[in-house]
This record gives sequence, structure tokens and C-alpha cells, in this order.
Amino acid sequence: MIDHNFYLVITKMNQEYFMRLALEAAKKGDWPYGAVIVKDDEVAAVAYNTVQRDSDPSAHAEINVIRILTAKISKPTLEGYSIYTTCEPCPMCATACVWTGVSEIICGVSIQDLISLNQAQIHISCEEIIAKSFRNIKVTKGVLKDECLALFK
Ligand SMILES: [Zn+2]
Repeated sequence: MIDHNFYLVITKMNQEYFMRLALEAAKKGDWPYGAVIVKDDEVAAVAYNTVQRDSDPSAHAEINVIRILTAKISKPTLEGYSIYTTCEPCPMCATACVWTGVSEIICGVSIQDLISLNQAQIHISCEEIIAKSFRNIKVTKGVLKDECLALFK
């Protein structure tokens, strides 16, 4: 039997590993946001914000990573996948997560954290979007929060 604390330590190590990949991706973005989608502890897709270079206001890291993966697997749904994102998904991205049916959202900083740094944000948490939807998506916040916040300084 696996010790429960051991399981928690391994989970935290995995979460930090994938968040570091999202952080690296964020550094390539037009704005410092990165996202990684993972299934069975393997990276399925990586993306970052391309709003400026694509002249596309919807080209957030989460939308981009979802589009890359759903095109790759030729399916619009992502049940069983986890999305790692350096910042909590905005209402548009949280809604996209609902439509694709990702199983879990793991984020670094919260929308509230970014508002505290005077970043332009819509003040609705991803939990609020999920709560009003037909999905039950697990949300974990604060993974490598300081590193994710440092992208904005
Ligand atoms: Zn977004």
C-alpha cells in the first residue's frame, strides 16, 4: 500500500514539473502566459499567448493549447486530460475548458493575484464558471505561484 503522504509528495513534484514547462512556454508568449496539457503524466501539448502575432484576441495560451491538441487528436473533447496554466483561466478560457471537458485545471497565479498587480483581467474566477456549468472540474491553484507572478515583474 502506498503511503498517503508519499502520494501527496509525488503529486506535488509532478505538478511543479509540468508547471515549469508552462513557465518556459510563457516566456515565448506575447504576454507571459503559458499552458501545458497532460494525460497519464505525459505532455500532450504546449502553447503560449499569441494575441499580438496572430492579431487574435482569443489566442490565449489555454485556447491555443486546446486547439493544438484537439486538432492533433481530431476530437473536440479532452476528458481525462489536465491543463496546467501559469495563470488561472479567464472566463473565455474557463468556458473552453468546460466545453472540452478537461478533468482538471492546475494554475499558478489567480485572477485576483493579477488584478493586485494591475493586470487587465475579468474578475470572475474559473470556479465560478465551472460551478454554473454542467461539468465537475477539479481546480488547484498556487502551484509555483511566485515563479508565475515573477513573469509579470
Ligand atoms: Zn484566457
